[in-house]
Amino acid sequence: MKYISTRGRMEPVGFQDAVMTGLAPDGGLLLPEKLPQVGDRLEEWAQLSYQELAFEIISLFATDIPPADLAELITDSYATFDHAEVAPSVEVGDFQILELFHGPTLAFKDVALQFLGNLFEYILEQRGGKLNILGATSGDTGSAAIHGVRGKPNINIFIMHPAGRTSPLQEKQMTSVLDDNVFNLAVDGTFDDCQNIMKTTFGDVGFKTEHSLGSVNSVNWARVLAQTVYYFYAAFRTMEKTGTKSVQFSVPTGNFGDILAGYLAQRMGLPISKLILATNENDILSRFFNSGTYGMADVVPTLSPSMDIQVASNFERYLYYKVGEDAEKLAAMMDNFNENGSLSVPLNENGAVDDLFVAGRGDTAATLATIKKYHDQYGYVLDPHTAVGVYVAEQFKSEEAPTICLATAHPAKFTQAIIDAIGEAVHHPTLDALANAETRCDSIANDVDAVKEYLVGHIM
Ligand SMILES: *Cc1c(COP(=O)(O)O)cnc(C)c1O
Repeated sequence: MKYISTRGRMEPVGFQDAVMTGLAPDGGLLLPEKLPQVGDRLEEWAQLSYQELAFEIISLFATDIPPADLAELITDSYATFDHAEVAPSVEVGDFQILELFHGPTLAFKDVALQFLGNLFEYILEQRGGKLNILGATSGDTGSAAIHGVRGKPNINIFIMHPAGRTSPLQEKQMTSVLDDNVFNLAVDGTFDDCQNIMKTTFGDVGFKTEHSLGSVNSVNWARVLAQTVYYFYAAFRTMEKTGTKSVQFSVPTGNFGDILAGYLAQRMGLPISKLILATNENDILSRFFNSGTYGMADVVPTLSPSMDIQVASNFERYLYYKVGEDAEKLAAMMDNFNENGSLSVPLNENGAVDDLFVAGRGDTAATLATIKKYHDQYGYVLDPHTAVGVYVAEQFKSEEAPTICLATAHPAKFTQAIIDAIGEAVHHPTLDALANAETRCDSIANDVDAVKEYLVGHIM
């Protein structure tokens, strides 16, 4: 399987190169040249465990990794999860709640980043070489990335967070990881400052090459690929429970990585009748699917911070299919977007952008009310991200296709929002144990040169 750029100006590369490249050199995102069609394998796949299914799906894409090695990578990646099924579904009211928070940091990003960390280390072992990951985080991603690569001999990870501006719990999830290859940097500035330092450092191509800098951002193809697995797994479980022939998924959405995985699963032949896209007040994507116009707006902070985005970094992959896999047309659209901050696609005869998608938004009041409702009626506590998805899903129920709502984080991660919604906190032993954990973190000035100097001094 070869990978191409959505903007068409890159020689096709193999899977391992696609993983190590991240963003394509022409500014586009990588996609497989052709999506495999798996419709005739679904019956057989429905019998598999999560890990076996992951192997079947990923091996169609990772054709340059020997099967035995891939099987081991997958087994190792999901051995860190605290549930035998990895991604179990539970019935709550009218919905199946797909719990994606059984990994080490209690958020769905672990599903992809546990795999990506092992994959990076495997490729570096094969090829020789080191990787120094530099990232900026306001919370979830940094912590999942750190837990994905901790203790790996050929990788160092440097994660910047804005000093004093990350929730104490999320900060501790990062700084309590004491492995020698993990460096937490508390930057005297905001999250934007951290991102700017990162962009400037990566922009210095000489420095980046000399020090083998890399990133783990959500455009990495391996992340999207790992996420397609749970769409298949959950659809099989729900169809077998309900006897239906198709399902719909509701996805709390930020950078469009998660829902893109569902879209690809559908294109590969999984019977998904609707993808319900749910955003918070940062609703660039729900506006797009309801109006055809994708227009940038300012970010407002919400109760679901991992969905607080201005532009969705994975959206370009969807657009590529939307314009009929025409890379030139897509490149022109993206150029136009970068110039004007907006792009449009025509609506179809049903007044929709795409008949597969419906979209809506849930604001702070809706989030709190939904958490309270499911707690009071069913004794189940949704985290604020999941609550947005459930709130929007309530508007799109179907008789023929049961709705699976993706639960992207454990509620114990968002103490204050949960207290505001139901009057008490929920607990998780992993988080409770952090209270007395030893931590390691270095403070650093809000200054690119200070960060570069730190990197050079600590790269082993
Ligand atoms: C990252 C994240 C999301 C959004 O996922 P995208 O792939 O960016 O759309 C939703 N919920 C939680 C808890 C997250 O960490």
